[in-house]
Parts: sequence; structure tokens; C-alpha cells
Amino acid sequence: LFVTLEGGDGAGKSTQAEMLSGWLSERGHEVVRTREPGGTTLGVELRKLLLHGGDVSPRAEALLYAADRAQHIATVVRPALERDAVVVQDRYIDSSLAYQGAGRVLSAEEVRGISTWAVEGLWPDLTVLLDIDPEEGVTRRASRGGSDDRLEAEAIEFHRAVREGFLALAKQESDRFLVLDATAPADEIHAHILAAVSPLLSR
Ligand code: C5P
Repeated sequence: LFVTLEGGDGAGKSTQAEMLSGWLSERGHEVVRTREPGGTTLGVELRKLLLHGGDVSPRAEALLYAADRAQHIATVVRPALERDAVVVQDRYIDSSLAYQGAGRVLSAEEVRGISTWAVEGLWPDLTVLLDIDPEEGVTRRASRGGSDDRLEAEAIEFHRAVREGFLALAKQESDRFLVLDATAPADEIHAHILAAVSPLLSR
């Protein structure tokens, strides 16, 4: 089972990934909790370049994310899925579609093409979108000291476009997506996620 968490910065993806992973482990499932960018040794280097590497052109950026993803899927995610582990992953292709697509230089279709090639067509069984107003997300993220160079530099307009991008994807692929209000209490969000994950486990 492959579950991804998506959403803007400060939406609480890590908290929910941790809660879900804990619940699954307690029930005896092998859980691989991972993230993009930066889920492999190569990915950690790519993450540094992407988040602190200065000016990266839109196409180079999209390819670096795709390279990170290709390595991550081939060496971490596919092997885990093959041994029946549950993969709980912070960010995946939808983040690229929303972020790299939101710059408006590349179309979502171009980004989708690169990403699909990179992962040989592997899509999640369930994608949880933690939807949040970008201003709220930035405040929440800053208050826990988790800001990075890019976040400071990116205008709120960009984050609004990212949010719209995520919501549009969720609408397009409503079977795969669970959209939740990220400002709800963490326990409540967790309960909604469990309600969606449980039936998939018994399939
Ligand atoms: O969620 P995390 O803190 O790992 O994300 C770091 C940053 O990477 C995000 O704030 C976002 O700006 C950027 N990102 C991106 N495109 C992706 C994934 C992440 O621009 N595909």
C-alpha cells in the first residue's frame, strides 16, 4: 500500500505521517516512512541543491526533482512495496505538478510526463491532501522554526497558485485523493485518514 501526503508548507504533513505510521506499526504492518525530496543518499544532495542552491532554471529544477524521485522510487519505495510494506510518503508527483507547474513556465502536463517517466508510472493508492491557506501555513511553519531559503523568497502568490494546483488535481483524480482541512485538530485529521486507509489494508 502506497500512501502519500501532500499540501503546502506548514500543513502538518509530517505530524500526520508520524501518526499514521505509528498506528500502522502498532497493528503489525511494516511501515516505510519516507519523503521527497531527500529520501535517499543521492536525494539528500539533490535536496540541498534544490532548496539552497540559488537560481535553478525551471527545466533544470523539474529534472532534479525527477532525478530525486527516480532514485527514491527505484531504491526505497518499489522494494518496500514488493515486500508488502506500507509506504507513507511526504510529497510525491503531485507536489511537482503543483509547485513546478505553478511557476507557469512548465505546464502540468510537461511535469507529469517527466515524473511519470522517472517512476515508471507508479502512482499512490491514496493521496491525502492537507489543504491550508498559504498565509496560515507560512505562519505555522515559521513558528516551528522550519523555514528555508526558498520559502522566504517565494511570494505568497506563488503559494496560492500551488494550493489551487493541488485542489485542481484532487478534483481531477477524486478517486485517489482525500482532501482534508489542515487547520482541524490533528486527532480529527488522523481519524479521517484512518477511515480512508483501513479499508485499503484489508483489500
Ligand atoms: O515539505 P518539505 O519541507 O520537504 O518541502 C520543501 C520545499 O520544497 C517546499 O517548501 C517546496 O517549496 C519545495 N518543493 C518543490 N517541488 C517539489 C517538492 C518540494 O518546489 N516537487
